[in-house]
Amino acid sequence: MPLRIAVIGAGQMGAGIAEVAARSGHTVLLHDRSDELIARGIANIEKNLARAVEKGRIDAAGRDAVVARIERAARIDALDVDLAIEAATEALDLKLALFARLDAATPANAILASNTSSISITTLGAATKRPERVIGMHFMNPVPVMALVEIIRGIATSQATYDFTENLAREMGKTPVEVRDFPGFVSNRVLMPMINEAIYALFEGVGSVEAIDTVMKLGMNHPMGPLQLADFIGLDTCLAIMDVLHEGFGDSKYRPCPLLKQYVAAGWLGKKSGRGFYTYA
Ligand code: NAD
Repeated sequence: MPLRIAVIGAGQMGAGIAEVAARSGHTVLLHDRSDELIARGIANIEKNLARAVEKGRIDAAGRDAVVARIERAARIDALDVDLAIEAATEALDLKLALFARLDAATPANAILASNTSSISITTLGAATKRPERVIGMHFMNPVPVMALVEIIRGIATSQATYDFTENLAREMGKTPVEVRDFPGFVSNRVLMPMINEAIYALFEGVGSVEAIDTVMKLGMNHPMGPLQLADFIGLDTCLAIMDVLHEGFGDSKYRPCPLLKQYVAAGWLGKKSGRGFYTYA
């Protein structure tokens, strides 16, 4: 049955989630901090749909129907939705505030999901009066292409909430995998230390950007080198995830590389800002 889904944050991930949800027949209410940011997200969805039309994956009428199912939500004081998926910047305080707001703004039986890469779902649930309806729904980037959705149960998440979310992910054409609520879950607990280590290798002059990425592509058969992947994820997001791992486990092996911190301080956030380890037009 088509649902009404609020997507909070219209950046790389929020736009992708909105597109996939609308392509699955659901109505989407897309929200970000300003009208301009919502418009930028919708423009990115339209660009992606245009490519899908060119490749024959969807026809023009289908594209128009998808776009028509995405509404702009300038405000989130009152949201008549079945589900909200939060995909805002990876920062604990910001997400806690958003979960408290979503708890007040949505019907009591709505499910509140977070696309967080690393932050505790249990902690986000505790910011609401419905922790049993709070869950992690961690899509991969780019959302329309990647099959995996990590589904994370907080300590209070109910079985009904889990079943609903797992079904929805399958219905969206994704493969859900259940994981427990520990820092970075599975995906970023394994991936991000590798990326951080690649940045250390660059920092220490072990190899150039190209050398490090080529070693991992040709030597390990990775489709993309770790530095390029970091650029695609966003270096601010990579740093935020390392900070969560470092603090959450209290183990120095997770300390973020100083070079990563310096790039983020410079505003070199990767593909989304035009410059990271590589430059982007
Ligand atoms: P992004 O920087 O592209 O987008 C974040 C968006 O959140 C921005 O448009 C920003 O304006 C918006 N935002 C910030 N504060 C807000 C608020 N109070 N209300 C509404 N919107 C707000 O980042 P992204 O890559 O889309 O990441 C978003 C989330 O998805 C993060 O939690 C991240 O960890 C997670 N994630 C990212 C990836 C990835 O590869 N980039 C993969 C999986 C999950």
